[in-house]
Amino acid sequence: MPETTRIWPSQDAVLPEDVTDPLLWRLAYDVAVAHQPDAAGHCASLLCAGQGTPCAPLVNARRAMLLARGGAPGSAPVPAQWDWRREAA
Ligand SMILES: [Zn+2]
Repeated sequence: MPETTRIWPSQDAVLPEDVTDPLLWRLAYDVAVAHQPDAAGHCASLLCAGQGTPCAPLVNARRAMLLARGGAPGSAPVPAQWDWRREAA
């Protein structure tokens, strides 16, 4: 029987208390984790082919995480030194 269980980083993350859309937050969290910079400062995801960070998927994931917490879309500033590990605390 094939293994069908997939482990996503968000499965182990603790939702912030103010999250109003857990599904959106977890999806965005997984995208953000996949698009963290490598040691050279480039996106580690193969989908971004070495783009500088923050790449577009990471920026959008941050916005989605803010939205999932009731934040305003678009104009909300995203910290340049955003840390996905701290977000899940
Ligand atoms: Zn990326």
